[in-house]
Amino acid sequence: MNETNESNSMDHDVVLLSNGNNGLDCHCKIPDCNSLIFRADTAPLYKEERKLPLGDRVDTISSFWRLDDVFKFENVTFTKETQTEQGKIKYLACCDCEYGPIGYQNLENQICYVAIDRVKYCQPKIDGNSNS
Ligand SMILES: [Zn+2]
Repeated sequence: MNETNESNSMDHDVVLLSNGNNGLDCHCKIPDCNSLIFRADTAPLYKEERKLPLGDRVDTISSFWRLDDVFKFENVTFTKETQTEQGKIKYLACCDCEYGPIGYQNLENQICYVAIDRVKYCQPKIDGNSNS
């Protein structure tokens, strides 16, 4: 396994709101896909070092978005259960192109963590969608 240990250079895209949540919509990084994964103001930043595979390599990720409910995702797919040193998890991937894992779900408490550098950030679109 080839491990890369990136510094904090990944933080440059991250915009936080005053409540600590993500300030931008999070999309799939694959340009032809661009699927919306979760919207702005959904998840707080969560610092934890964790190894996350991607293809043939394993990255050490130190910052995640924490989504405490799977219904906070717009689009995501879950892979089958995996036993890790930190317990049972499911990996998360793009539901359209299966790029990933972009993060993982802790199966003990159902909380999901999305690696901040495995998603792309876009300004939220203001649409006329009123549910009120
Ligand atoms: Zn995708």
